[in-house]
Amino acid sequence: MRTHTSRRGFLQFGLSAAGAALAPRWALAQAANAPSSAAAQADPGMIPVKSTKLADNVYLLQGTGGNMVLQTGSDGLLLIDASFAPAVPRIREAIAALAPAAISAPGQLINTHWHGDHTGGNEGMHAAGFSILAHRQTRDRLSHTQVMQLFHRTVDPSPAGALPTQVFDSTMTVYRNGDTLDLVHFAPAHTDSDIYTHFKNANVLHLGDIWFNGMYPFIDEGTGGNIDGMIAGSKLGLEIADSSTKIIPGHGPLGTKEELAAYHEMLSAVRERVAGLKKQGLSEPEALAKKPTAEFDARWGKGFMAPDVFAGIVYRTV
Ligand SMILES: [Zn+2]
Ligand SMILES: [Zn+2]
Repeated sequence: MRTHTSRRGFLQFGLSAAGAALAPRWALAQAANAPSSAAAQADPGMIPVKSTKLADNVYLLQGTGGNMVLQTGSDGLLLIDASFAPAVPRIREAIAALAPAAISAPGQLINTHWHGDHTGGNEGMHAAGFSILAHRQTRDRLSHTQVMQLFHRTVDPSPAGALPTQVFDSTMTVYRNGDTLDLVHFAPAHTDSDIYTHFKNANVLHLGDIWFNGMYPFIDEGTGGNIDGMIAGSKLGLEIADSSTKIIPGHGPLGTKEELAAYHEMLSAVRERVAGLKKQGLSEPEALAKKPTAEFDARWGKGFMAPDVFAGIVYRTV
């Protein structure tokens, strides 16, 4: 039974398609891009999108779903990620408040990876004049039925209007609105489609779901995710960032290099512990019974990934 409290908790964390499996029906329907009733879709459409200024023309947008970044300027709007489909009107309202003249001009949408809490709004933003750019695997996964293994859930292919029309394989550079954006594919980490976007002049870095700030991350082992990729990906983020870089996690609050370093160390420590237990021959339940995350749970275990669920993913992917 779903309670008011659990729904509030879910929304508070702005949870992903992954967390959606543990959460209300609207989120499930959205993550799966499945038809659902108006009532079931109402909630994400009612969550306002809050903006936080990061640089002269760069803003963090946070509502339901994954964290978004907006760049404004005379070259046209650029948006990173698009939340769930019903959130599109709220995203457009937030953009219109920041850049009223630009809202009806062609824009560029970049997806950090294929999950529905980052791409669910693709079709709506495309209809609003945005062209979509992503890693090749994002387009590929959105084009075909996917299985989110942890939640035993099938995700239907996206409609044509939601598909990226420009893709890249390893790196891409975008020059826009006076800044240079480096787009770089991570080796498989949270999924096999993850990229980061670094606004070099604004010194803003969006890491997508490589980083869940302040909580254990979801790792989508069914679409290429694995703990070693998360460790390597967060290390790469640390190499790019300096002490004043504004680092955007896929979920959680705007972060700093120091917070990213703590997350990276936690991932590495949990990995070593779980790998050690596996090497001793312990089965997954036996390893989990040893509570390998115990000393980290107070700080990281209060997000939507329960400690044992996270440790189980680490065990299976290490
Ligand atoms: Zn997410
Ligand atoms: Zn994700």
